[in-house]
Amino acid sequence: MDFAINPDHQSIRDGVGAVVRSFKDEYWLERDEDGKFPFEFHRAMAEGGWLGLTMPEEYGGAGLGVTEAMIMMHEVASHGGGMSATSTVHINLFGPHPIVVFGTPEQKARWIPRLVAGQDQCCFGFTEPDAGLNTTAIKTFAQKVPGGYKVNGQKVWTSTAQVANKIMLLTRTTKLEDCKRPTDGITIFYTDLDRAKIAVTKIPKMGRKAVDSNSIFIDDLFIPEEDRIGEEGKGFSYILHSLNPERVLIAVEAIGIGQDALRRASKYARERVVFGRPIGQNQGIQHPLAEKWMQLEAAYLLVSKAAWLYDNHLPCGAESNAAKFMGARAGYDSCLQAVLTFGGFGYAKEYHVERLLREVTVTRIAPITEQLILSFIAEKVLDQPKSY
Ligand SMILES: Cc1cc2nc3c(=O)[nH]c(=O)nc-3n(C[C@H](O)[C@H](O)[C@H](O)COP(=O)(O)OP(=O)(O)OC[C@H]3O[C@@H](n4cnc5c(N)ncnc54)[C@H](O)[C@@H]3O)c2cc1C
Repeated sequence: MDFAINPDHQSIRDGVGAVVRSFKDEYWLERDEDGKFPFEFHRAMAEGGWLGLTMPEEYGGAGLGVTEAMIMMHEVASHGGGMSATSTVHINLFGPHPIVVFGTPEQKARWIPRLVAGQDQCCFGFTEPDAGLNTTAIKTFAQKVPGGYKVNGQKVWTSTAQVANKIMLLTRTTKLEDCKRPTDGITIFYTDLDRAKIAVTKIPKMGRKAVDSNSIFIDDLFIPEEDRIGEEGKGFSYILHSLNPERVLIAVEAIGIGQDALRRASKYARERVVFGRPIGQNQGIQHPLAEKWMQLEAAYLLVSKAAWLYDNHLPCGAESNAAKFMGARAGYDSCLQAVLTFGGFGYAKEYHVERLLREVTVTRIAPITEQLILSFIAEKVLDQPKSY
């Protein structure tokens, strides 16, 4: 066991941290008010070379692993931007994984360098209103036509579709009822987000206002054959490759936000004087903060283990899911405790902790909910009967 700080990791932390810290609390508060996409932040991260951290070197990336991505996203999450900061860049790290693993050399050369340079922005159309967490129940259908496919259907929660010019789209090419297994007949595309054929409607939501989420309706969208990733009907197995890294990153983002809130609360507890002494002198204030610190540290260790397992090509499903559960819980609980520590001012926008609480909440819900993680652990680790 070696917990020493690796100099390469420290330089990622320092480099990313320098970019992230140049965007102050006020910048993120303004984005929370006006809902404008943080283009300046996206550009600064692209110019710093951080958008290609995990992409292959031959396509302009740095070819690094989940551990390095985890360090990067921990830093992005830790300085006031919450999920608005992380979601601006997160998709670049493991979202394009199906392209990297299953794309042809021509597709990789056509798509990856533009993502790394920040010239293309990609959104993910996976979730559907009538399927929910039951992904294999999606209905968006890609009908084979000469030279490609004609797609019709509906997606929900598609994040960044207001600003993206590309979409990774999960479709059925064989209806569920005609498949041997529910995971068969699913095909994945990476294609232009053609606004003439895709209607995008923003969903007003609780937090992460600067990074939009949308309902989208797809009406006779033509997708050329060369925009299909891998083989027809095998798309479900392709997306599995990016699920564990995504859970690890969401977990560490929640932890970073929780630690950010905890730092603010601890500072306030030292400085705020009531009854003639700092409120932090009361154990009722300091003990819950100490407890949150421990929970965040423990969750960070679990996330680090999951990342290490992935990077060493070892099974990591249980650890990645558990890390996502524990990280999101610890992050959420810390943000809530921060609001309570500030008392009335915790409710005021000026102190930022109410925003961090709204930002972190989504990590408990997406990309997978707590209930489904518990079911997964019960079934796969504890050998209980499948409950869904
Ligand atoms: C801000 C935000 C951004 C998102 N961005 C994207 C995106 O970019 N692209 C994309 O494709 N999706 C995105 N999502 C969708 C997200 O992945 C889903 O919301 C999430 O997977 C939950 O699915 P659902 O909302 O359909 O819940 P449902 O499936 O409707 O479930 C509702 C509740 O019932 C519980 N439940 C359901 N079945 C069971 C069961 N068998 N046992 C126990 N409990 C059960 C769930 O855990 C949940 O609590 C986003 C969501 C949010 C909120």
